[in-house]
Parts: sequence; structure tokens; C-alpha cells
Amino acid sequence: MSDTPSPPAQAAAITEAYLRIKARIDKACRLAGRDPAEVRLSCVTKTLDWARIEPVLELGHRRFGENRVQEALLRWAGVRASGAYPGLELSLIGPLQTNKVRAAVQLFDKIETIDRPRLAEALAAEIALWGRTPQLYIQVNIGEEPQKAGVLPHDLPQLVTQCRDLGLNITGLMAIPPVDGPRGPYFALLARLAGRAGLSELSMGMSDDFETAIGFGATDIRVGSAIFGAR
Ligand SMILES: *Cc1c(COP(=O)(O)O)cnc(C)c1O
Repeated sequence: MSDTPSPPAQAAAITEAYLRIKARIDKACRLAGRDPAEVRLSCVTKTLDWARIEPVLELGHRRFGENRVQEALLRWAGVRASGAYPGLELSLIGPLQTNKVRAAVQLFDKIETIDRPRLAEALAAEIALWGRTPQLYIQVNIGEEPQKAGVLPHDLPQLVTQCRDLGLNITGLMAIPPVDGPRGPYFALLARLAGRAGLSELSMGMSDDFETAIGFGATDIRVGSAIFGAR
């Protein structure tokens, strides 16, 4: 590809984009009257090669989002074991199959995509077995879209109860609103659902809508392409 930037140019562009996103987060927090320390940025590294990830690690960033267990293991298990970047925090933000729960519990610090009782049961069993407890969020299919993962808003209270009965400490909700139209109403709905369920953490907002999400109370935003470029 003739338009591929040289490695140093690519690293410089990613460094600049990351710092720009951080500044936009600070500004959105200021406008919303919120403390930027309340908003955690996960840099979404799915499909990326290491050369694109290294610049943000070098800046001291340690929180990353991945949407596939196997891919995340290949990318991060060795890096974590090496100790080269202490304090890594890995979030699973993609669908979790029950046969990957063991690996997910061992690798991730946060699992944001609980969406059904069977998965909650499998997580409870593996957490008990390994004594390792990631933070746990439930994913809500906030736009009730047939092709999207997540529990329907109507079924959320029951899933929260089922998780609590299993001893799972659910602390937040995650959602991906429909791509078309304004996102605000969906972010507001997720915040309301969390409030009703007594959950304080809200993972919402991506490259093209994180500022809106911050305005509606996001505590976790997940940004990929605005930092790393197109996947
Ligand atoms: C890929 C992905 C993101 C990041 O998307 P961008 O538009 O690249 O910022 C955020 N959340 C989830 C669940 C994703 O799968």
C-alpha cells in the first residue's frame, strides 16, 4: 500500500491522536461539571499490530479493551508476563462464549459483556475456582436491535438479580447504541437503568460519541479508531 505511513510517522500520529482525545475528554468533563478522574479511557486494540499499540504504552497508558478472548490472549498474555508495562488493565468488550470463560477470567480485569444467565453461571464457577475476580458489567441491548448482543432493557432487572444470587458483584452496565440517529437518548436510558439497579458504572461512548456519553454520565469510554486510525 503506497499510503502506509512510515513507522515513526505512524507512531507520532498515534501519540498526537491519543493526547488530543485526552484533551477532549477533559473538556467534555469540564462542560459536564465532572472530574476527569471519574472517566476511564479504554484504548480499543482489537485487530491492531503491536507497532500501533506501543506509542500509547510509552505514554503511560495502561487500560485496553479487546473484543475477542483468543486474540487478546495472543496480544497481551506475554506482554503482561514480561512485566514490561506494569499495571495493565484489560477489559473484555466483545461477546463471551461459555467455552472461553475460563480464559477470560484468567486474563481480563473487567468483563463488560455479561448478557445471559448461562454465562453468569459459568463466570461464577470459574471465579470460585480461580479466586480471581474481574470487575463485572452487564451488557444491555439498549436499542433492542436483533443483531446486537446484550440483555434487553426489560429483562435487565431479572438478570441483575440472577447474577447477585450467584454471588457475582455486578457494578455497571455497558451498551453500544444504534449507529443511526442521536445517541443521547440511549445513553440517558442506560444511565436510568443503572440507577434503578443500583449500579454506579456506565461503559458507553466510542470514537464518534464519547463526549456525548460523558455528558450523560459515562464512567468508562472505549475509543479505538479515533486514536489508532481505521482498522
Ligand atoms: C470496536 C469497539 C469499540 C471502539 O470503536 P471505535 O469506533 O473504533 O472507537 C468500542 N466498543 C466496542 C464494544 C467495540 O467493539
